[in-house]
Amino acid sequence: MAQRMFGARKLPGDGPRNGWFETLPEPPPARRVEGRIRVDFAVVGAGICGCSTARRLAELRPDDSVALIEAGRVGYGTSGRNAGFMLDNHSHGGMKHMEAARKNVRLSSAGTDWLRRLVREHQIQCQWSDWGRIYVAAGEGAEAELRNVSDGFDSLGAPWRELDRDGVEAVTGSRYYRRGVRVDGSALVQPSAMMRGLAATLPANVALYEESPVLEMGAGGGFRLTCPDGTVEARQVVLCTHVFTEEMGFLKHRAVPLASFASLTEPLSDAQAAMLGGEGEFGLLPAHSNGSTVRLTQDRRILMRNTLFYAREKRFPAALMERVADIHRRSIAARWPDLGDTGFAGTWGGILGFTRNEGAIFGPVRDGLWALMSCDVAPMTKGAIGGKLLAEHICGEDSELLQVVLSLPRAALLPPDPILRFVVNRRVGRLAATGAAER
Ligand SMILES: Cc1cc2nc3c(=O)[nH]c(=O)nc-3n(C[C@H](O)[C@H](O)[C@H](O)COP(=O)(O)OP(=O)(O)OC[C@H]3O[C@@H](n4cnc5c(N)ncnc54)[C@H](O)[C@@H]3O)c2cc1C
Repeated sequence: MAQRMFGARKLPGDGPRNGWFETLPEPPPARRVEGRIRVDFAVVGAGICGCSTARRLAELRPDDSVALIEAGRVGYGTSGRNAGFMLDNHSHGGMKHMEAARKNVRLSSAGTDWLRRLVREHQIQCQWSDWGRIYVAAGEGAEAELRNVSDGFDSLGAPWRELDRDGVEAVTGSRYYRRGVRVDGSALVQPSAMMRGLAATLPANVALYEESPVLEMGAGGGFRLTCPDGTVEARQVVLCTHVFTEEMGFLKHRAVPLASFASLTEPLSDAQAAMLGGEGEFGLLPAHSNGSTVRLTQDRRILMRNTLFYAREKRFPAALMERVADIHRRSIAARWPDLGDTGFAGTWGGILGFTRNEGAIFGPVRDGLWALMSCDVAPMTKGAIGGKLLAEHICGEDSELLQVVLSLPRAALLPPDPILRFVVNRRVGRLAATGAAER
C-alpha cells in the first residue's frame, strides 16, 4: 500500500550546555537506528512522555517489541533541562478553568507518586527530595499574585502555610522576598539524572535508540520511520516529540511554544553555601509569571530560571544565551550580593508548551498513530502519568484515571502567526513590565 509521507521540517537543536547534563558523567556511546529494524511499537521522543509510554507499553505487552527513538541523548532535551520540580499540584494567579485544574491535579499527583515509586524501586540516583516548594513574592504587585496562589490552593483543598520575610530568609538566607507560601507534597530532582535513570531501567523489550532523529515518516499499512542511518518499521507509532510534533505536520496550532532559560552554578564553597539559609536545599517558584524559579541543590549549586520568549523558531542563538547568562548573574546578585560572580556549569534554553484552555493533547491522531504532549502546569508529572495512561489506552486497559484524562477538554485551537506571535509578545512584554522586580 502506498504510504503517505510526513517530513520533520525542524529537529531539536536543544540550545547549548544543559548544565544538569554536563555535571553528570559522560554517558556510554549511543545505540543508533542502523539498518532495517522491525518492531511492534515505535515511540518517538525519549523525554518524560516517551519514556513513560515505552515503559508501560512494554509492561503490558511483554511479548511485543518497543523501539524508543530519540534525536539527541536522553536527559539532554527539555525533560532533562527543566528546573526539577516534580509537582503534585500547582496554583497560579487567577486560575480560570477550575474543573480542568482539579482534574489536572489528580493527574499530576498520580504522576508524582508513580515517579517517586520508580525512583525508589530502581534506586535512581537523581537527588530526589520530598522537600516541597515555596511560592515567593518580592514586590508589591507579586504579593497580590501570591494571594491568588494561596486562594487557588484553598479552592483545590490543598494545605499551605505562610512565611513572612524572616521566614523566607531562614530558608534561603536572602531578604529579597517579602512573603512566601510553603506547600508540601512535591519533589525536587536533578532532572537529567532522573531521565537517564528512567531510560536505563526500561523493561528488556524496549530498545532505546539515541542520536537518531526521525527525518521522515511513512504512514499507511503500518509505519516506516526514516533516521539518518536506518529505518524502523512499526505497527503502531506514538509521537512524544513535544513542541516538535507540529514540525512533523501534526497537532499544529494547539500549543504556544514559550522558551525559558536556566543557569546552574558550579558547586558553592562552604562559606558561600552558609549564605543560603539553614535547610541545605530549597526550591522557590515565583508568584508572578515574570519571576525566577530558584533552587539550592543538594550538591550546593544555585539554579536560576527566568526570562520568557515566544519560540516558534525553536533555536537559541549564542548572543541570546550570553544575554540570558548576564540576566541570571544579576538575579543571583540581587538575592545574594556576594554570589553574583559565581561561575556557571551551564546556561541553556528550553521550550514549554502552553494550551489556551489547560486542555489535553492525548490520544489517537489517525489509525495506529498516537500522540501525547504535556503542557501548561506541572508538565513533568502530568507527562509521566500521561505516558502511562496512553499506553494503557492503546492496550485497551480502562481505569478511573484514564477517564479523567479522557474527560479533559481537547487543547483549543490557537490563531496562526503572526497573530499568535503578536499576542504572546504583547503578553510577555506586559509581564516583564509589571514583574520587573521579580526577576
Ligand atoms: C527552563 C525550563 C524549566 C522547566 N521547569 C519545569 C519544572 O520545574 N517542572 C516541570 O514539571 N516542568 C518544567 N519544565 C517543562 C518540562 O520540562 C517540559 O514540559 C517537559 O519536559 C516536556 O516533556 P516531553 O516528554 O513532552 O518533551 P521533551 O522532554 O522535549 O521530549 C521530547 C523529545 O523528543 C525528541 N524529538 C523531537 N523531535 C524528534 C524527532 N524528529 N526524532 C526523534 N526525536 C525527536 C526531542 O529530542 C526530545 O528529547 C521546564 C521547562 C524549561 C524549558
